[in-house]
Amino acid sequence: MKNNSYAGNKLYSGISALACRGSVPHGILIECENEDEGYEFARFIAGCLLCTGSDKPCGECPACRKFYKNGHPDVIVTDGIRGKSSSFTVDAVREIRSSAFVVPNESDKKIYILKNGGNMNEQAQNAILKILEEPPEYVYFIIITPSKSTVLETVLSRVCVYSLNTESAGVSEKEKEAVKALVMAILSVSELKLLEETAAYQKNSQFAETVLELLSEIFRDALVKKSGYNGNFRFEDEVNAVCSALTSKSIMNCAEVCGELIASIQRKCNNNLLITRMCYEFKRAIGR
Ligand SMILES: [Zn+2]
Repeated sequence: MKNNSYAGNKLYSGISALACRGSVPHGILIECENEDEGYEFARFIAGCLLCTGSDKPCGECPACRKFYKNGHPDVIVTDGIRGKSSSFTVDAVREIRSSAFVVPNESDKKIYILKNGGNMNEQAQNAILKILEEPPEYVYFIIITPSKSTVLETVLSRVCVYSLNTESAGVSEKEKEAVKALVMAILSVSELKLLEETAAYQKNSQFAETVLELLSEIFRDALVKKSGYNGNFRFEDEVNAVCSALTSKSIMNCAEVCGELIASIQRKCNNNLLITRMCYEFKRAIGR
């Protein structure tokens, strides 16, 4: 599958790199205004998860062939619509929950693609949350929504968000400069520098959240670059700096820390504690 239209798209390359390392997150939220594009990306992720070849998805192993030809019994696609309503019903979520505990048929993974995630009411989302909190080892959820603003914060804290909507929307120069400085502070492993850089975040959670989202984009791109992809990245210099300073394992740890921090901001945790924790976690993540 190397020479198809996917090559060159860093979100696609990123998932493929994660799949090759066996570290695709169990909960993924695809934010995409165009439902078909979102679904195509979801299918690509499912293909990466099922593929038993080395360059995922290889398109040639039995799992790939089956999936791309007729669909695969361990990939369940649903829009959750029951009866006349257009919403993703709580009954549909309950069915998903009970079927999730039945082991996969052929693969060692079971993948649920939930379309229509933008039409999931609070009750349905809370039902999904229960299984996102403790999914069976083999289960993966990919939820597609036009905007992550439709999703409860508790659910957001359990998923990794991939946005196919225009990436630069809403990012100011100030935020861009802040993330660049933050990367340098992290790489310098100076606690003082980190504290200096993060002082501005203490009173402004929204600012901290945007900067951390940009930071996690940089780590994600750095992993993609480590896997051999040489494309254009929004923060080219920072991606290069991260790649030359850190191992893939450290980068993965840092990306994880970012996700945890974003989730704790969304849970409205104390920002002072958050900054201290950020300094500590990053130092630990890069193994020093
Ligand atoms: Zn394959």
